[in-house]
Formats: sequence, structure tokens, C-alpha cells
Amino acid sequence: MEIDVLPEVKDFLKQEQLLFIDGEFQKSVNGSMLPVVNPATEQELCDVHAAEQEDVDAAVKAARRSFESEEWASMDARVRAKLMNNLADLLERDIDILAQLDTLNNGKPLSEMYGSDLPNAIEQFRYYAGWTTKWTGQTIPIAGEFFNYTRHEPVGVAGQIIPWNFPLMMACWKIAPAIAVGCTVVLKPAEQTPLSALYLAKLVQEAGFPKGVINIIPGLGKTAGQALIEHEDVDKIAFTGSSKTGQHIMKMAADTFKRLTLELGGKSPNIIMPDADLDKAIPGVFYGIMANKGEICCAGSRVFVPENQYEDIVDKMVEFAETVNIGSGLDEENVIGPLISKQQFNQVASYIEEGMAEGAEKACGGVLDREGYYIQPTVFKNVTEEMQIAKEEIFGPVVVVLPYTSEEEVIQKANNTPYGLAAGIWTENIRSAHKIAHRLKAGTVWVNSYNLTDPATPFGGFKASGFGREMGSYALNNYTEVKSVWINLEE
Ligand code: NAD
Repeated sequence: MEIDVLPEVKDFLKQEQLLFIDGEFQKSVNGSMLPVVNPATEQELCDVHAAEQEDVDAAVKAARRSFESEEWASMDARVRAKLMNNLADLLERDIDILAQLDTLNNGKPLSEMYGSDLPNAIEQFRYYAGWTTKWTGQTIPIAGEFFNYTRHEPVGVAGQIIPWNFPLMMACWKIAPAIAVGCTVVLKPAEQTPLSALYLAKLVQEAGFPKGVINIIPGLGKTAGQALIEHEDVDKIAFTGSSKTGQHIMKMAADTFKRLTLELGGKSPNIIMPDADLDKAIPGVFYGIMANKGEICCAGSRVFVPENQYEDIVDKMVEFAETVNIGSGLDEENVIGPLISKQQFNQVASYIEEGMAEGAEKACGGVLDREGYYIQPTVFKNVTEEMQIAKEEIFGPVVVVLPYTSEEEVIQKANNTPYGLAAGIWTENIRSAHKIAHRLKAGTVWVNSYNLTDPATPFGGFKASGFGREMGSYALNNYTEVKSVWINLEE
């Protein structure tokens, strides 16, 4: 079904999509272009200029100039906060355009854009605007006649590389804490989803930021991303994406001693305890994995259920799965949109095949044979922990259901993964909620909820899920160098 979009969105898609460097929109030096595809129709939406090494270099130089400039370096923190609040207001003004751009480009339903991505993205700037005047050092009582204090100084030019699953929200998670403490940034959106970031660039211009503070350059990982991580004048890399790319970036960052934060993949457990309220737990674990079509790093992709309730819970999950509408994210009725790309579709489809070949039973779901990269919510039962579908990040709407017989056993099984991004517990018992939450090796634990984030609370991983925390006061550390100053007070 052809669904109409706003005239502003149509106009935006007709414009030449340029790189945003030093406060101006510019063509890529070599004229490289990237196609941008609508995953619901498999049709091209537009082309965007793609950054290569020379463009990355220009963006880093602009960010450096701006970082060293009197205007940015000495800017009153209140003025920085005002700029950030301006940007938040502009995002809010254009909320419908941004909602449609991400839905067209990523496939996610509009309900998710309005319910989660957009409010979360906008509030990043308001939350961190508040921190600009509150990120203070310490005065420290040391031995001897000295006055000692610390300064929180910005780390410098931050290279920020983001994935395609939350295009606008990830951009805001990255940019807001960096500029709050006075860094400048070069942000590379994922090659699949550059549109909302380029629209954000227009708003950055309108908000009145000095030139070069925020640079936004779409491009391929292996060219633009690689040039950013190798660049000698980038002080810090913040990356969200696959664990494999994260590992590669970690090695590359060593050569230039870059500061680094990584937010990587997961295979998160979502545990239903015997006393859970199933009316809440079933939709909870369902959206824990199926939200954003399963393309979420913290997706609850391993659901643990008491052995004696196994069949009953699988049946209820299948029943629930059959009630949800799948289709274009632009249609308000749909809650599951298409996967991001043909490549992702093929990857998820091959995991489904692999699961069946390994002997797991597909209780519902599978690929949909129609235009668009659609995969139905897929539930696997009779799964063992050794199977590939139980161990590897699938990054699609596929969940495995695993049985357990005791609290101790489920804690062991939940932690039996190289990842540690998130976990969920469904229980009516406050004791087991806290007890299990403390023992799970995960950066976030949700009790009787899942996939919630807030600008004020940290998010990030243990183990192979990365290190460093985004959001909350914790994210400010990622962009700060601490300097200790000693003043000799002796006569
Ligand atoms: P990816 O990790 O390769 O890409 C994420 C970002 O890194 C993109 O902006 C990409 O351009 C960039 N990048 C890629 N190679 C780079 C390099 N050598 N140097 C610098 N930047 C580089 O992920 P992908 O290829 O889009 O997807 C592959 C798999 O990763 C997916 O199937 C999924 O399992 C997983 N994934 C996880 C997350 C997450 O949030 N944890 C997000 C996206 C994808």
C-alpha cells in the first residue's frame, strides 16, 4: 500500500543530500554517493554524498579549529546550554518530519518513533544542557601546604560512529554529552540510515551552533569510519554497533591512544519467574525481543521459563505473536516493520533455517514472501543452550525459549554468554527481583519491564557488550580529561 508522507519530507528527499562540515553543506570531494533504500518497498529513497578520507579529514580539521576557537572554548556554559535547548526545541518543532524520515529509512513503526525514539532523542539535549553548568571538579585535601583541585576539561575532537537501528536517537545519545562538556564532534551515521542525521544537521545550523562544533558525514564504515578511527587528530571514538567491528576499532584505537567507548551486541536473557504475572510478562517478553523488529542491541532474545510452565508459556507467546500487525511502519496499525536491509533479512532468515536444522522447533513465524524485508515474529521452542540460535546475536525478531528448574540454575544459564548488555526479570516477589538483579552480569536489569531507557540513567555493557556508559552523569566521563592542579601555599 502506498502511504503518503508530509510535503516537507517529500521536499527533503528531493534535495541534494550533502555532507555537513564546518557549518556548511558540502559535496563529497570525490563525488562518492550512497543509495538510501526504503526497506518497506525495497525502492531507493534518494542518494546521499558519501564521505571518504579527504572529507573525513576536512571534518576533523573543522572540529579541531572549532575546539580550539575562542568562541567555543571560552563559551559561557549557559550559552552552550541555550544552544542545546534551542536544538531540542527545533527537534520538537519538526517531530513529524523526523518521525517519517526514520520510519521511511529504517522501517520502524511510527508508534515507536513517537512513543520512544523521538522523546528520548529530544530529551538528551535538555538533560545534558542542564549538566553544562554542573560538571564540576573537586577541591582535594592533600598532605602538605598545598591547594589541590581538579578541572574537568573536554577531551577534544570526538569521532562518533553509530548504527542503523535507532538513527536519530543514537545520534542524539552521542552528540549531547560530548558538546555539553565542550568537545566538538564528527558523527558518522550508518550508511543505511543517514537521513534523520542530515536533517538534524539542518537544525544544528538553525540552532546557532558555531561552525565546526557538530559535523555530520554519512559514509561507509570501511572508508569514512575507518578514516575516522585512524585519524591522528581525533582524540576519542564513541562507537555503537557489532561486537566484531567494535573489536576491530579497539585494536585500531591503540595506535593513536584514542579514548574509546564501545556499545556492542548482546544475547540478553529475559527471565519469567514461577510467580510472574503472565498477563504482563507475555506482552513484556514479546516486545522485549520484537520491538524495533528485534533490531535492538539489548533485545531479550533468550527467554527463560520454569520447566513446568514451558508449554503453556510458549503457547501464550505464539498466541500473542499472532495478534500483532506486520507491515509498513507508516501505517499506524502496524507494530512490526520490515528489517533494515536485504542483507539483514538474509542473515536472520539463515539463522531461522539453521535453528530448524539444529533440531529446534519453530512454534511460529518465519520469513514473509512479499515486497519489503519482512520477517514475522518467530518463536523457537525445544532449544538447547548449545544451539547457534541460542548463543549468537541474531538481530531480528527471533526468540528462543529455554526451560529452567531453580533460581540458581536460571542465574547460571542467564549469565552463560559472552555478552552482558541487559536482562529482564518478571516476578511479583521483591526479594527474588533484587537478588537476581544483583547477580546478573548485565549493564541494565529491568524488573517487570524491558527496553526502557532514560537520558538520566546509564546504559552500556559488561563483557563483550562493550565498555563505558552512555547517558546519565556517567556519559560525561567519556568526554572528560581530569586535570589535577597543585598550588604551593608555602611562604
Ligand atoms: P557494524 O558494526 O559493522 O556497523 C555499525 C557502524 O560501524 C556503521 O556506522 C558502520 O558504517 C561502521 N563501521 C563498520 N565498519 C567500520 C570500520 N572498519 N571502521 C569504522 N567504522 C565502521 O554493523 P553492521 O554491518 O551494520 O551490522 C552487522 C551486525 O551487527 C548486525 O547483523 C547486528 O547483528 C549487529 N549490529 C549491532 C548493533 C548494536 O547496536 N549492538 C547495531 C547494528 C548492528
